[in-house]
Amino acid sequence: MVRPRPPPAASGRDRRAALARELREALHPLGAADPAWLERVRSVVVSAGCSEADLLAPPPPDGVASRHCPRCHQRFAAAVATCSECAGIALRNG
Ligand SMILES: [Zn+2]
Repeated sequence: MVRPRPPPAASGRDRRAALARELREALHPLGAADPAWLERVRSVVVSAGCSEADLLAPPPPDGVASRHCPRCHQRFAAAVATCSECAGIALRNG
């Protein structure tokens, strides 16, 4: 499957956010995994000089919700197990 590259962004911060979103979506697809797409996104991350670990860091704590979706970064309460926006992606602590 051919998908467009992450769109160029006006600023470094916007580009970093776009790359982070692309990487999270490639790692946690809603449908079938696409290893070629993940490899391509990882290549763009490296060429942009970004750290995959930094891009995948959990969203900042909000003091209320203790879990987050690794795909969309929405926060949830501890009792919730899967993301309501991402078709059952398992939530993570933190
Ligand atoms: Zn989600």
